[in-house]
Amino acid sequence: MKIMKFGGTSVGKPERMRQVKELITRDQEPTIVVLSALSGTTNALVAIGESCAQGNKAQAKQQIDELAAHYHRFITELVKTAPALEKAKSIVNEHFEFLNIILKISFNEALQKDILAQGELLSTKLFSCYLGEVGIAHKLLPALEFMSIDSYDEPQIGTIKVRLGMLLEENKDTKLFITQGYICRNSRGEIDNLKRGGSDYTASLVAAAIQASVCEIWTDIDGMHNNDPRMVDKTQPIETLSFDEAAELAYFGAKILHPASIWPAQQYNVPVKLLNTMEPDAKGTVIQEKASSVGVKAVAAKDGIIAIKIKSSRMLLAYGFLRKIFEVFEKYRTSIDMITTSEVAVSLTIDSKEHLAQIIKELEPFGTVELDENQTIVAVVGHELAQTGEILTRLFDALASIPVRMVSYGGSHHNVSILIPAEHKKATLQLLNKGLFGL
Ligand code: ADP
Ligand code: ASP
Ligand code: MG
Repeated sequence: MKIMKFGGTSVGKPERMRQVKELITRDQEPTIVVLSALSGTTNALVAIGESCAQGNKAQAKQQIDELAAHYHRFITELVKTAPALEKAKSIVNEHFEFLNIILKISFNEALQKDILAQGELLSTKLFSCYLGEVGIAHKLLPALEFMSIDSYDEPQIGTIKVRLGMLLEENKDTKLFITQGYICRNSRGEIDNLKRGGSDYTASLVAAAIQASVCEIWTDIDGMHNNDPRMVDKTQPIETLSFDEAAELAYFGAKILHPASIWPAQQYNVPVKLLNTMEPDAKGTVIQEKASSVGVKAVAAKDGIIAIKIKSSRMLLAYGFLRKIFEVFEKYRTSIDMITTSEVAVSLTIDSKEHLAQIIKELEPFGTVELDENQTIVAVVGHELAQTGEILTRLFDALASIPVRMVSYGGSHHNVSILIPAEHKKATLQLLNKGLFGL
C-alpha cells in the first residue's frame, strides 16, 4: 500500500483535482490519498478565527461569505451532473452553516481549531463527491477517527497504528482511501491539528503506521531544491537525500516539508518522494536511509529566531551552570536550536516567544541577559560535511559582507548553522548559492 499526499495548490482548482484523480488511478497499488485544504483556505480560516477572537463578528461574517462564494464557484466547475452538484452544494452548505453558528457562540481556542479543520473536511468530501460522479470506487477515511496527539501535542503513533489498522481491516476490499491531512484529535478528544503545513506530517505518520511501500508528497515544485526558490533565482532540484539531510532541511525552514514530517518515515524506513503535480513525470526527490554522496546538498533558512546571551564571568565555568540554564528552557518546553559558549558568556537561540518573558526572568539571576530578536538561522545541510574540509572556507568567503552573529559546526555531520539578522537573509542565501553551488 502506498501514500499519496496532495498539497493546497494541487487541489486548489477544479482542473487540478481532475489531475489528482488521474495520478491516483495510474497504477493498481492500493493507496491512501491524504489531502490538504484548497490553497488559500487555511489562511482564510485563520483570518476568520482572528476576527472572531477580536469580537469583530461583522468582519468574520464577511470573510465567511467570501469563502463560501469561492466554494460555490469551485463546485460548479468541479462536477457536471445535477445529483453530484446537489451533493456538493449540501457539503458546502453544511460546513459554512457550521462556521456561521460559531459566530453566535462565545469564542475560545478550541473553537478556533474547529474552524481550521473545515478546510480539509471540505476538500476531501468534495473530492470524494467528484470521484463518485466519475465512478471511481473509494472510501473516505475520517482522520478524526484515527489521528491523535497526546497532551504534549506529539502524535501517538501506537494508537494511530491500531485505529487505522482497524479501519482498514473493516474495509478490506477497498483499494482507494481518501483522508484529511493536518487535522487530528488531542488528548481531551477535541478537534486539533498538526500545525501549519501539517498534511505532510499526516502523510508520513500514516505511511509509518501502515508500513507503506512509499510516501509520495505531491506539491507545486519538482522536489527539494538546493536553496529557497522564493528567495533565490537559480535553484535546482536534488535527486536524492538521506532522511537525516531531509529532516534538517525541513526543520530549518525548507517549506516544502513540515518540520517534523521526516521522523515517522525514517523510523519505519518508508522512502519519501517529493513530486510535482503539475509535472508528474519530473524526477523529483527521493528521500531514503542512505546519503548518495558526501558534501553540501542544500541551504535553508528559519525565521523568527531570538538569540539570548547570558554573560557571567563569575559563573560560566562553574559546575552545573549550563544545566541550570537548560532547566529553565526545559521548564517552559522551549527548544534550543543553536548554542555557542565563550569563557564569559553563553549564547543560544529559540524560535518561540511564547514564554520569553518568564524565561528571561528566570535567567536573570545567572548573569546579564541580552536579547536579539528578528534573527534568522541559515542551515547548510549535506552529508559528512566535516570531510569536505574546504566547506568553512567557502562558507565564510561567500559571507564576507554579512554580519554573522553565531556559528554552529560539528553538532551533527549534516549541518553547519549560522545566525544572521533577518534583514540579511536574502543576500545570505544568494551569496551561498554562488559560493557553495556556483549558481
Ligand atoms: P503544499 O501546499 O503542496 O504543501 P507548500 O507551499 O507547503 O506546498 O510547499 C511547496 C513550496 O515550498 C514551494 O512552492 C516552494 O516555494 C517552497 N520551498 C521553500 N524551500 C524550498 C526548497 N528548498 N525546495 C523546494 N521548495 C521549497
Ligand atoms: N491546510 C493546512 C495549512 O495550510 C495544512 C497543509 O496544507 O499542510 O497549513
Ligand atoms: Mg505544505
